[in-house]
Amino acid sequence: MNIVYSCPSCSGQTAAAVIESQPTLCCPHCSRSISMPAGAILPATATEPPRLTRCVVCPSTELFVRKNFPQRLGVGIVVVGFAASCVAWAYRELVLTFGILFATAAIDVVLYFLVPECLTCYRCGARYTGPGITDRFGGFNLETHEKHRQQAARQGQAASAGS
Ligand SMILES: [Zn+2]
Ligand SMILES: [Zn+2]
Repeated sequence: MNIVYSCPSCSGQTAAAVIESQPTLCCPHCSRSISMPAGAILPATATEPPRLTRCVVCPSTELFVRKNFPQRLGVGIVVVGFAASCVAWAYRELVLTFGILFATAAIDVVLYFLVPECLTCYRCGARYTGPGITDRFGGFNLETHEKHRQQAARQGQAASAGS
């Protein structure tokens, strides 16, 4: 099981692999270490890969399944495709224009099916990948997302009021 998370101390992006066999996660930027909460990862059995029961970075047990697709790449492909089709259009190449647009859409669809799914924490945004990791979790739920967003906003207000 692999994780990509933002360090709670320095907000640096940190990635770690095979986290089920590590007692702590250590941030390479500020060396803050996070101990694995007990029971957060159920060990692998003969038939099943290790299972995540909660986020290991924050105390949240709510995670959702989504495609591990870099959004910037998806948008980049669309922008490049659109720009290329505009150039073709300027040269009055009608077939080429639509060809490029269809190809762009096709690439996005193919990529979408190729990229694996990952598990994302609603609260801290940590991303987990690994075999069978998404089995026990559902897709994105706006209500849960909103709950966590408001919680975070309240905490932010409390922090700024206290200082
Ligand atoms: Zn850090
Ligand atoms: Zn979390």
